[in-house]
Amino acid sequence: MQTKRIAIFGSTGSIGTQALDVIAANADKFSVAVLTAQNNAELLIKQALQFNPKLVVIGDEKKYHTIKEALVNTTIGVASGEAALEEAAAADYYDMMLAAIVGYAGLKPTLKAIDNGKAIALANKETLVVAGDIVMKKALEKRVPVIPVDSEHSAIFQCLVGEGRNKIEKIILTASGGPFLGRKPNFLVNVKRDHALQHPNWSMGAKISIDSSTLMNKGLEMIEAKWLFNLQAEQVQVVIHPQSIIHSMVQFEDGSMKAQMGLPDMKLPIQYAMAFPQRLPNDFKRYDFKKPNTLSFEEPDFKTFRNLSLAIDALHKGGNLPCVMNAANEIAVFAFLRNRIGFLDMTELIERTMAKIPFIEKPTLKDYFESDGEARNFAASIIQM
Ligand code: NAD
Ligand code: MG
Repeated sequence: MQTKRIAIFGSTGSIGTQALDVIAANADKFSVAVLTAQNNAELLIKQALQFNPKLVVIGDEKKYHTIKEALVNTTIGVASGEAALEEAAAADYYDMMLAAIVGYAGLKPTLKAIDNGKAIALANKETLVVAGDIVMKKALEKRVPVIPVDSEHSAIFQCLVGEGRNKIEKIILTASGGPFLGRKPNFLVNVKRDHALQHPNWSMGAKISIDSSTLMNKGLEMIEAKWLFNLQAEQVQVVIHPQSIIHSMVQFEDGSMKAQMGLPDMKLPIQYAMAFPQRLPNDFKRYDFKKPNTLSFEEPDFKTFRNLSLAIDALHKGGNLPCVMNAANEIAVFAFLRNRIGFLDMTELIERTMAKIPFIEKPTLKDYFESDGEARNFAASIIQM
């Protein structure tokens, strides 16, 4: 049997490395065609030697020679720089892109892969937050499946299998609440990066960990869900579920609800997206109903976690606002991770940027690129002050 050839964009990250674990465990089903990373040359080389892709791409051009030298006795191609990422996405020697780059940087390669007619397993939620209308329209035109990797969206996708044209009344995204569930602004004002990085249920990359601690992650996911499942803003809701066992729910027109459940382990949605429509056996840990358990639900604290309110505002207003919000958030998270600004300053930075950048109701792709740049510059200029 032919293997499905996977191009992993962002292979050295949390999603990328877990995807390689899944591939290693299912070598009869999957092979690796492309691996890309921004900085971590050492890990990229190790992965290349283990999985023997056609091509590796390193973002940081200074690392090119190190990698080239390490792979000199192999047939693996080496490239570097931002343009090389898009060239790799345009290659014909892979079947599916796992879009696992973090942030806005994932947008262009993913668009290129769709243009190229390749199936997408989408972890990079920022791609849909920034330009969801354009990305999904292009995918439809090219008849390219976009299969979510984000656990909530994988849950909804799984709930929808077999439902055909049955109408969705609403979807309910579950949120763990992050490390600061129940906390108030007087506590949050003093929070430092190392505390914010400690998520109770998931081990993830730095950016999404901070986004989870501010609940911006759930806001990004609401926008991601709107585009993935072609919903109205009002149909996308959030509930806090601290145990992260129900990964999300769909409520249909007849009031019936479906949920997808399991222990929090990203390998499951990664494997599901890569193998869809098949389910593959594995030895991941199972949830045990016989042990004492409580599954609980509560309303998010929108007043304390104002990033979520800002994202809901962006979801409803649409246009270039989610793109602007995303750019400001990336700058804010980056500055917070470097101890340049405080935890609550992130919200202020995003809010001021959203108020400043001119609103565009029906942006073109070029408008999105420009809005992203303007928002970044403005947000960065506030931090300089
Ligand atoms: P990460 O920081 O662990 O890894 C990011 C990867 O992208 C790395 O391989 C890095 O080299 C690469 N990268 C970073 N900046 C880049 C740039 N400018 N250009 C090219 N490549 C770049 O991140 P992660 O936690 O694996 O998350 C990846 C994406 O998946 C994010 O969009 C995140 O929101 C989403 N996601 C992650 C999880 C999770 O559990 N980690 C869950 C759901 C969704
Ligand atoms: Mg998620």
